[in-house]
Amino acid sequence: MNDAITHQEGGDLADLILYLARLGQSCPSAPDAMPLTSAQWAALRYFARANRFSRTPSAFSDFHATTRGTASQTVKSLVALKLLERRSHDHDGRSTVIEVTEAGRAQLRADPMRDLRAVLDALPVAQQRALAAALGQTIQDLAARRMAPVFGTCSDCNHCEIRPLDCFCRSTQTALCPSDMQAICVGFQPVLTPR
Ligand code: SF4
Repeated sequence: MNDAITHQEGGDLADLILYLARLGQSCPSAPDAMPLTSAQWAALRYFARANRFSRTPSAFSDFHATTRGTASQTVKSLVALKLLERRSHDHDGRSTVIEVTEAGRAQLRADPMRDLRAVLDALPVAQQRALAAALGQTIQDLAARRMAPVFGTCSDCNHCEIRPLDCFCRSTQTALCPSDMQAICVGFQPVLTPR
């Protein structure tokens, strides 16, 4: 196929992205999983992937582009189902973070998005990287237009200082462990110059 045939206008691409998102979520859950709404699934996935600074209902509301009240109701419903739980923060007994329970992790193994992940995993690595770069740039540009926060991970964050023996977050003033580095963060600030 030549470029004239494969080239997609912005509007077509936007439709494709929304169609892919809907198709990805439409796969039925495994029979032993609890039936959840798409917002509940989004929250469960978010709290499984977010770092300790971001596992709050308000950070989830930013990530899911919804109101604080709606996000709070979604979290409450998952706590009632025992898929999420509230725990005191390690460093500060006054604040709480949301954690995924064992039952929540079992539920995530039946995630309707599993087929989409498998299809993306099967793409050649170069295509996966190109897709990640294009989608990442699109998210950043759209968030800038809407003055919305962008979520990302430490290795691409301007606050992350890579030291000889470990990494350090200049925003939260904490050392970052390997699991922190993989998790998504509400305080993420895109790195200004590529590392
Ligand atoms: S370095 Fe950036 S992404 Fe990592 S914890 Fe700090 S603010 Fe969040």
